[in-house]
Amino acid sequence: MLTITEPSRDIPIVDQVDVLVAGGGPAGIAAAVAAARGGARTVLVERYGYLGGLATGGLVLFMDGLFDRRGERCIGGIHWEAIERLRANGGLAEVRPTNLHVDSEMLKMVADDLCTEAGVGLRLHSWAVDALVQDDRVTGVVVESKAGRQAILSRVCVDATGDGDIAARAGAAYDFGTMRIGLNLKVGGVDRDAFRRYQKEHPERARALRSEVRALGGCPIGANATPHSDIGVYWVNILGLASRSAGKTVDAFPDDTFAGELSAIDVNALTYAEIELRRRITIGLDFYRRNVPGYRNVRLLALAGQLGVRDSRRVRGIHKLTREELEGGAQFEDAIGMTGEMFGSGDHLQVPYRALVPETLDGVLSSGRCISVDDGLIHAIRVIPPCMMTGQAAGTAAALCAETDVLPRDLDPMLLRQQLAADGAMLP
Ligand SMILES: Cc1cc2nc3c(=O)[nH]c(=O)nc-3n(C[C@H](O)[C@H](O)[C@H](O)COP(=O)(O)OP(=O)(O)OC[C@H]3O[C@@H](n4cnc5c(N)ncnc54)[C@H](O)[C@@H]3O)c2cc1C
Repeated sequence: MLTITEPSRDIPIVDQVDVLVAGGGPAGIAAAVAAARGGARTVLVERYGYLGGLATGGLVLFMDGLFDRRGERCIGGIHWEAIERLRANGGLAEVRPTNLHVDSEMLKMVADDLCTEAGVGLRLHSWAVDALVQDDRVTGVVVESKAGRQAILSRVCVDATGDGDIAARAGAAYDFGTMRIGLNLKVGGVDRDAFRRYQKEHPERARALRSEVRALGGCPIGANATPHSDIGVYWVNILGLASRSAGKTVDAFPDDTFAGELSAIDVNALTYAEIELRRRITIGLDFYRRNVPGYRNVRLLALAGQLGVRDSRRVRGIHKLTREELEGGAQFEDAIGMTGEMFGSGDHLQVPYRALVPETLDGVLSSGRCISVDDGLIHAIRVIPPCMMTGQAAGTAAALCAETDVLPRDLDPMLLRQQLAADGAMLP
């Protein structure tokens, strides 16, 4: 590959903080709020103009992994606080007590409130583009914005970018996943009662719709509840693209619905996915409008501004959580929380602190969908409530490390567990 050499230059240090959180999705919000509430001077850097990541801009609105198979809630803390706030202001659709869907726009505002009330310094419209590293320790990040290239120094950084951008830039080892990339949407004008009647009266025909629309090159348009479903507004979860090859769209990986081969850190793949998914959604909407009872008046209200990336880098931690552990009901002394697991025989999965601490690198913790898990387990970890749970743990740990001047790998997990419990987290 041809290269150029950039001239070296001085860049301004615009802030020096205890905790720097890169990425303001579910994990980043919880991390920043936890760190600031823990007394750390905290700044959160987010590339877009709002918080929430896939749970707002990505129009991913169902709270998965929040309840275990017995229907008991297993995540509390900042995630549950956000849910309670949404419930209080009409931003929550409770299909059943264990089936919760949020309003994307109200969640943006709840996230603003949580952060500003806690005293988090917000830097929106700012990309974290590089890590500052000294002796294998992250000491800050380089940010880019309309103001150019600037540095922020930190005692501890929480990587909540979803893609492990900071840890990777700093040289951390990582595993890489290429699950299907989707693009969610909101629609209006759906009469779901009419569609349900059709499903009841013609179950075979209703079941066949998905394969019919896929055969035409379109995406199925399944309607999921929003708080505004009484006026026909629903969100649609798009399974998405497995690869660039037309032949590999639907049944390419029959053993795993989510399997794919597009890289979410390849800008050409992301560009392809945006355009191709918009094309397929248009075909899907047209098909449903013409053929599916309840969808005659369906209108596209919004395409997600944020592409539906399920998986990419997972920063290799001191402990990599595995599917085998889940199936064996593994218990961890340093557990920082649980997720309602979906595959094993137990009721929930415990997550150890060590899965957030990079194998070799210091000064940084991972959180959300880029923590250390194997391919078999990412499904149970990457969903929104567990991402907020690991975010809260990372932010709490970062504040404790900054306060006591210890490295994340040397933090006493019992101290962390005590603080998490005091802050309303649910621990095994
Ligand atoms: C199509 C699809 C459907 C899904 N369905 C469900 C579902 O039904 N229920 C469920 O619970 N979960 C679902 N998920 C999973 C869930 O939405 C995500 O895994 C979860 O939001 C991850 O949270 P996160 O905070 O780790 O990352 P993200 O939500 O990806 O947030 C990362 C944040 O960091 C920002 N960022 C990234 N890089 C940088 C950078 N370098 N500098 C500054 N900012 C940066 C991003 O803009 C974003 O705000 C789905 C995911 C997809 C893609």
